[in-house]
Amino acid sequence: MTRLRPPKKRFLLPMTPSSEEIRALYRDAMVPTYNFSAPIMVRGEGSRLWDLEGREYLDFTTGISVCSLGHCHPRVAQAIARQASTLMHCSNIFCNLNAPRLAMQLSQKGIQGKVFFANSGAEANEGMIKTARLWGSRHGERHEIIVFHTSFHGRTLATLAATGQPVFRQGMEPDMPGFVTVPYNDLEAVEKAITPHTCAILLEPVQAEGGVFPATPAFLQGLRQLCDQKKLLLLLDEVQTGMGRTGSFFCFQQYDIRPDAFSTAKALGNGIPLACFQLSQELAQLHQPGLTHGSTFGGNPLSTAAGLAVMEAFHQENILENVRIQGAALRHGLEELQKKHPVIREVRGLGLLLGIQLDDALPDTVAKCREKGLLTLTAGKGVMRLLPSLKVTSQEVQTALAILDEALS
Ligand SMILES: *Cc1c(COP(=O)(O)O)cnc(C)c1O
Repeated sequence: MTRLRPPKKRFLLPMTPSSEEIRALYRDAMVPTYNFSAPIMVRGEGSRLWDLEGREYLDFTTGISVCSLGHCHPRVAQAIARQASTLMHCSNIFCNLNAPRLAMQLSQKGIQGKVFFANSGAEANEGMIKTARLWGSRHGERHEIIVFHTSFHGRTLATLAATGQPVFRQGMEPDMPGFVTVPYNDLEAVEKAITPHTCAILLEPVQAEGGVFPATPAFLQGLRQLCDQKKLLLLLDEVQTGMGRTGSFFCFQQYDIRPDAFSTAKALGNGIPLACFQLSQELAQLHQPGLTHGSTFGGNPLSTAAGLAVMEAFHQENILENVRIQGAALRHGLEELQKKHPVIREVRGLGLLLGIQLDDALPDTVAKCREKGLLTLTAGKGVMRLLPSLKVTSQEVQTALAILDEALS
């Protein structure tokens, strides 16, 4: 068995380039889609990150809810090290040992459906959209999907068309047709948007990137009823909300409903690119080998080894209980801060996916938190988003609250 080396305490080796050198490479060699002035991260462990300058941070971003079990989780690190020296990839021309086992576990935690593995959230959503169209074409000429303002479903052309934030596709028109956008949490608007061509409704149970807006139970349950009455598919994007983030394994479970299909990505591999969509048994029958969908990398032995290690952590490490306890503690602390700092307009979210409405104070607060060692994210308009590790400790929560308190003072 491969044994992990102890974490490297010294990472600034003599050959390590300077921040200036790295930034010059970013500027000269990389497409400028990201902010290159951000810290250069070199090491992570649990809730901590270290940058090239040796600064330590308390990470409440977890790589945007990807490293949800903490950075370099030993179980995951060990599993991928072992798999990397056994078999990394063989393509879906062949079967492997890990993909079906992970699929069965996800099915049992999900809707007892069938799983397709992809590599990113956008890709998982894309496959789910294709499935909805396949279904729609078998049930009349139906291809329209109802989606929502302030949603986020990814950066491919179909998922951008489904994303209710037109700014992300400006200049890349024509938009892919077939999506109708209506206000979130507005059941009546959905009802009005249904036409004989509608085949599905697609939404995030908590809109994350768009500003941390949870669906109301009446809305999500109402959508389920509407889909049953009108014979439509309910598709959920659980790319950010899945894998325990909101306090249940998948977020829809808190709403006591069942989607016909849903996607999962970010935290599925705890840092290894891995995503999936799960289809009801009935929908899965629409697909045929070699024709309807596929992926070169999807579900390869390496990424699914990471996924299996993540599932094992959920069985062994009381993750969901910690999300509920620390989620409540963080939320309570934020509500206390709200009483003290009127600049906090609202605290929203579920579990450990929390947002603070700060409006104009947002950029300054994020910058001050970072100066004081706390990494946070933004979302939507004027919202600070907090996505700590699902294994975050009470002490880390209190430290984060103290830093935020100072940053707002
Ligand atoms: C991040 C995200 C996506 C896109 O995932 P990628 O892996 O970046 O393609 C889609 N939907 C939701 C809800 C997300 O949070």
